[in-house]
Amino acid sequence: MVPQQMSAHCWYVQGLSALGSPKNQNFISNAGFVVTGDSVVVIDALGSPALAERLLAEIRKITPKPVKTVILTHYHADHVYGLQVFKDQGAHIIAQQLGREYLYAQTAALRLQASRTDLAPWVDDKTHLVPADEWIDGRQERTIGGMSFVLQPVGPAHTPEDLAIYLPADKVLYSGDLVFRSRIPYVGEADSRNWIASLDKLLTFGAEVVIPGHGEASHEARKDMELTRSYLIYLRKTMGQAAQDMVPFDQAYKDTDWTDWEALPLFKAANRMNAYNTYLLMEHEKP
Ligand SMILES: [Zn+2]
Repeated sequence: MVPQQMSAHCWYVQGLSALGSPKNQNFISNAGFVVTGDSVVVIDALGSPALAERLLAEIRKITPKPVKTVILTHYHADHVYGLQVFKDQGAHIIAQQLGREYLYAQTAALRLQASRTDLAPWVDDKTHLVPADEWIDGRQERTIGGMSFVLQPVGPAHTPEDLAIYLPADKVLYSGDLVFRSRIPYVGEADSRNWIASLDKLLTFGAEVVIPGHGEASHEARKDMELTRSYLIYLRKTMGQAAQDMVPFDQAYKDTDWTDWEALPLFKAANRMNAYNTYLLMEHEKP
């Protein structure tokens, strides 16, 4: 875990492109931190308490300022299992209010139970889910340690509670899991219409650097966001037309021109499934 500095105040650590395992301590997502005038703001808490301890130790090599705030991009296990470490330090935790639904649903408890086995000893009986101290609703601008933070809800896209964090002074955007870099995005069962609308919101920030929830940060924020955006639009256009014309999926997939996308990494692994999910989605979106 080596923090990388992306601007005057903004840093991040990059998780591995792997599934969570005891060997990697569940280090499969990124976390960011911003060194403000009087304190450190951490963005996402990593996938186990041990990782959060390591992040804290790395921050202490950079600054003696205390971690007073943690902002979550969303309540997924690999982004929140380290929360208790920051909570014990007295940090104030902020998340978008729809995160409560996940936190108090049975899926979160079952997932934690399974993780205590799958990720032992890094996730154990002492690992617990930590609710935010402050659940926010709409967009907020607040000043912490003399620096302005824009907290922009952008869900439902990857999750209902997606929250992006923008630092106007540094032109740095912490995007959570909404932006994919230099690869075919993973669409899954996401609501692509809302996802596009969220990317439009993010593009208005004029960020120069984007730090995603997974993978390497980018100095080409606009290019990366536009890639994700135009891919989603193309899927919806082609698969939407096919669904409307009642062309069977296999035929529609074969007839679609993929030349703009097929050179991108993970095209073979992800494109057909993305197209299929979008085809199903567009069948239901039809009036
Ligand atoms: Zn994630």
